[in-house]
Amino acid sequence: MPELPDVAGFRRVAEQATGRQVREVRVHDAQVLRGIGADAFQRALRRRYFAEPRRHGKWLLIATAAAVNASPAPPTLLLHFGMTGSLQWCAHGDELHQHDRLVFDFAAGELRYRDMRKLTGIHLAREQDEVDDLLAELGPDAQEIGTDEFAERLTRTRRRLKPALMDQAVLAGIGNICADEILWRARIDPNRSTTDLGAADLDRLHREMRAMLREAVRVGRVPDGASWLTGHRDEPDRRCPRCSSALRRMRIGGRSTLWCPTCQPA
Ligand SMILES: [Zn+2]
Repeated sequence: MPELPDVAGFRRVAEQATGRQVREVRVHDAQVLRGIGADAFQRALRRRYFAEPRRHGKWLLIATAAAVNASPAPPTLLLHFGMTGSLQWCAHGDELHQHDRLVFDFAAGELRYRDMRKLTGIHLAREQDEVDDLLAELGPDAQEIGTDEFAERLTRTRRRLKPALMDQAVLAGIGNICADEILWRARIDPNRSTTDLGAADLDRLHREMRAMLREAVRVGRVPDGASWLTGHRDEPDRRCPRCSSALRRMRIGGRSTLWCPTCQPA
């Protein structure tokens, strides 16, 4: 499921289209369009230029302009990737994948929105107000948020730590895999209450979140190498990569959670 690092990877894919003009938009499945029909979507974007993509949490925003080097003005594309979405840069003539729902055609190639489950999708904001409305519920981006604001927002309500970290209204971008990895790195039990954390815990959690995201963003996903918790997620005999203790697995806030009872004591 795409989280902040994955969407950072999709942002780099979308950069291939920066400064390029849309020749046409092909809608293969209009179900991924939210609040707009295929014809109106195609008309609104044809011959427009893509500006540099921007990411907030798990959202990718691509402003467009009427001419190259013109200051970008709405319409702005807002893409969400749900459970299974991705962006692909393809050559003309590359075979269409069965889950390619939307193709933006440029002279240099094609930007394709690929999604199997179609749980979320693509919005087109015609005014800046619409962009703001769509993102209004989101907290600050997890890569941007400072230590003090992180501590303040995370501890605002008393609740279990892991669901609070994943709450997009608290901070935007952290999903299930990132949350487990960050808590393991910071050596904090995911079941702890937000309001039980001391200043040193919150500092460490913030620092480990930043470090983890920096590494993961570089590769465009949460790495699953042997030194990462994620790398052991699907093993039958799951062991902590740091201390070799048997890992625990339990549903917390409805999500499968993995942690080390030795490194992350209750
Ligand atoms: Zn351990």
